[in-house]
Amino acid sequence: MARYIFVTGGVVSSLGKGLSSASLAYLLKSQGYKVRLRKMDPYLNVDPGTMSPFQHGEVFVTDDGAETDLDLGHYERFTNISSKQSDNITTGRIYSDVIKKERKGGYLGKTVQVIPHITNRIKEFIRKDITNEDFVICEIGGTVGDIESLPFVEAIRQFSNEHGKSKTLFIHLTFVPFLKSSDEIKTKPTQHSVKELRSIGIQPDIIICRSQQSIPLDQRKKISLFCNVPIDNVIETVDVRTIYEAPISFYNQKLDKQVLKFFKLKPKKRANLNPWKKITNIVLKTKKSVNIAIIGKYVNLKDAYKSLDEALVHGGIANNLKVNLIRIESDNLKNNEVKTKLKNVSGLLIPGGFGKRGTEGKISAIKYARENKIPFLGICFGMQMAIVEFARNRLKIKKAGSTELESKCYPVIGLINEWDKNGKIIKGTNKDLGGTMRLGLYEAKLKNNSAINRIYKSSSIKERHRHRYEVNNKLKDQFENKGLIFSGMSPDNKLPEIIELKNHPWFIGVQFHPEFKSRPLAPHPLFSSFIKASKNHK
Ligand code: GLN
Repeated sequence: MARYIFVTGGVVSSLGKGLSSASLAYLLKSQGYKVRLRKMDPYLNVDPGTMSPFQHGEVFVTDDGAETDLDLGHYERFTNISSKQSDNITTGRIYSDVIKKERKGGYLGKTVQVIPHITNRIKEFIRKDITNEDFVICEIGGTVGDIESLPFVEAIRQFSNEHGKSKTLFIHLTFVPFLKSSDEIKTKPTQHSVKELRSIGIQPDIIICRSQQSIPLDQRKKISLFCNVPIDNVIETVDVRTIYEAPISFYNQKLDKQVLKFFKLKPKKRANLNPWKKITNIVLKTKKSVNIAIIGKYVNLKDAYKSLDEALVHGGIANNLKVNLIRIESDNLKNNEVKTKLKNVSGLLIPGGFGKRGTEGKISAIKYARENKIPFLGICFGMQMAIVEFARNRLKIKKAGSTELESKCYPVIGLINEWDKNGKIIKGTNKDLGGTMRLGLYEAKLKNNSAINRIYKSSSIKERHRHRYEVNNKLKDQFENKGLIFSGMSPDNKLPEIIELKNHPWFIGVQFHPEFKSRPLAPHPLFSSFIKASKNHK
């Protein structure tokens, strides 16, 4: 049976539970173990798909098409283990499953209750779809003490009771503040948080203490004493200079060693930290930089384009460059401002997006990049807007648009059945906003001798999608005659997946989201190539 590691958080949120879990997973994997990471989210949305990035950060998409919490992105980037639909669950999904079963008479008339029915469903999730993994690391969203996370904490308590202490380990991540006025590190919030956890039946085995500075031995002893945890299992995590330092820092603090010791295991091979050391060095030492503009609706929100920001940094790492992101709010971008705003920019990126707000500014910026030969990468909505721009200004279809934005336009972008008589919507026909998109991994065939073919060094690729609308394939010849090539197509040749401009140093649009598959230790070729082209621009 797999060993289960449950990660809870206390005192405050945003302590980096995701990053800690991901770093631990990397360390265990690199010592020869098979690891799986899972996230349980205490909110009532059935999945994060319909949640606004304003509130919740980006929606991460898995190979198998699940719209998940962005923490799964951290997991993938640090471990290179692809997450699955079965790795993320929310309270909303748990309740909806239980209620559906109740409506079908699945509980044979019994009273349906949080304990045992909700907790049983949570335990089912924890165990599901596990084969030969050595470790399953399950992170519980929220903070211990919240009403919302109670059923999850109760479920992991039951889980440990059922499977035995030798198979389950509890890690609790807390905050250890430093009080400037008294020049002291304070352990009381940690004591309280552990007390809260113990009051609901869980004694942590390891406490990770997040702190701005190293925690002196006396304070660690105090935590050990009051929280009933061996001193070696009080692990500190001091703020790192770059997230890529986290696996190194946890290794130095012996987190992985204590975990293996708990389970009476030995490393199968030595942890390899060299790749992290190498990229930490690049990120911290590189002086040369390149300015990349991102024009989007949520640019000023931390985490709204998390994977994208990361992928650009990875592209920088591949080229030994720092990437300065110049974030331009699309709402406020007037046509006549584009030139000044893009003055010192070496590359332009238009990311994914939904809805009309701010689109005209994006279209003007794309026109500027096309005409002034500035490297351009359009992702999903960004590619769709590049098609609209080209259709209006080069094909002279003045009313060209996307039916997502205006129903009366000439649909160069639309739902398939709006431009193809035989077209059918790929998934779902209901009116619910959830579950009607093309989601997850789809193949694209790449045109021989195209730029994209050279970048990927392959004639067939698989990338992750998340969109409803598609480029109108009926206009392929018209576009290509004017120099905009459809260089990647779905295998049935119906859906344009990649566009690129001839006679331009680097102008590529992709219908998918390459950022979800970029890794710090394996930067995505599209981002590496985009950053390289931007470096050469000025
Ligand atoms: N709104 C567009 C669509 O649904 C693009 C989505 C996206 O950029 N992810 O097709």
